[in-house]
Amino acid sequence: MSGQMDHANLFDDARSRLEEVFDAIGVQGDARERLRQPSLSLQVSVPVRMDDGSLRVFPGWRVQYNNILGPAKGGIRFHPEVSQEEVTTLSFWMAVKCAVVDLPYGGGKGGVKVDPKQLSKLELERLARGYVRAIADIMGPDRDIPAPDVNTNATVMGWMADEFDHLARGKVPAAITGKPPALGGSLGRVAATGRGALHVLDLWAARERRKPEETTVAIQGFGNAAYHFARLAHERGYRIVAVSDSKGAIYSREGLDPDPIMEQKTHNQRLHDMVYCDDSVCIADDVEKLERDELLTLEVDVLALAALENQIHEDNVDQVKARAVLEIANGPVTSQADERLEKRGVPVLPDVLANTGGVIVSYYEWVQNRNGERWAEENVNARLAERLERQSQLIFERAEREEISYRKAAYRQGIERIAEAIQLRGNCQDSE
Ligand code: GLU
Repeated sequence: MSGQMDHANLFDDARSRLEEVFDAIGVQGDARERLRQPSLSLQVSVPVRMDDGSLRVFPGWRVQYNNILGPAKGGIRFHPEVSQEEVTTLSFWMAVKCAVVDLPYGGGKGGVKVDPKQLSKLELERLARGYVRAIADIMGPDRDIPAPDVNTNATVMGWMADEFDHLARGKVPAAITGKPPALGGSLGRVAATGRGALHVLDLWAARERRKPEETTVAIQGFGNAAYHFARLAHERGYRIVAVSDSKGAIYSREGLDPDPIMEQKTHNQRLHDMVYCDDSVCIADDVEKLERDELLTLEVDVLALAALENQIHEDNVDQVKARAVLEIANGPVTSQADERLEKRGVPVLPDVLANTGGVIVSYYEWVQNRNGERWAEENVNARLAERLERQSQLIFERAEREEISYRKAAYRQGIERIAEAIQLRGNCQDSE
């Protein structure tokens, strides 16, 4: 079998990291059992009337991994490869990451198996609304709060929030985060995942006494998180030598400026009022073109993975020449590949810390919505920086003290918080 897993093994692979953590921090029987499987998994069929009058039915899921620290929280993904296994795994990672950065949330995730780029804008809107109708019974500000993920953005969240308001016969802005600011979305949410990843990189670089100007970065991906990370990292002085998307990669030794690349890539989108941008980074002028996966093997200081899960696996991990890895996507390195990197002494700044900027600002959006407030963007960004600094330092220090990887330190930190809450809730939790 190739080292690149299909989704069938994804959850087992993700869950395998738990056992080591349970032993290391002494998690007892009840909590172990509770944490090994999701608490609720809903499969739905979403019928969509197509523009030509025909009906298509798309399979979808919403999984709540747990609601121990608070309501389930996590995005909704529209992608042709979505499966129940994938959504379950992603909900597990949400549960861990919310605990790692001390948010009062459990983990959740949703997905629809669809190629959204094949749909017209109206078909996409019907799909978004249909999905909310299908899962509305398990949603709500105190139960489960969806947000954007791969191929879903503020526009899609706006439609979903509107549909939920219709069903609730009132305004419930805190039921969904990542909305457009005009509908109660938080300022700073769109750039938050990229901004958060940059903070984590900066904090690590400062500990290593590494200057941004002396640091080269290759970025796999050029979606929302990757683009904002690239833009802000470039502003900060890091040298972005390569970026890629599903169609290919581009390279420049001197460094790329992400803004003109995005300009060129989205030029046609503005002309056609599309929700997605179909052009590739490869249309950029005056840069060297690479095969898409060549980017993963470049000799750089930091390889930032901002596309999908399972990108570095058993078969390609030995070709990775980067001196450090930054996980902006969820689960981009398999556990076997992770062990190999650890043995080689290549530090990995793990997803459950490095990509939490998005969910942290989602939490701020939820707080603003519940209190009827609107915070200035600087206020949102300052709170994000402060939380990430506090939680990252705890993890860096723990990793040093216990002589373990950053990922293990982050998992121990997060699982400890969840396990403590399970214990404190007492012995009769079987009715939840
Ligand atoms: N989809 C994002 C993630 O994987 C954000 C989730 C949220 O804001 O709830 O972290």
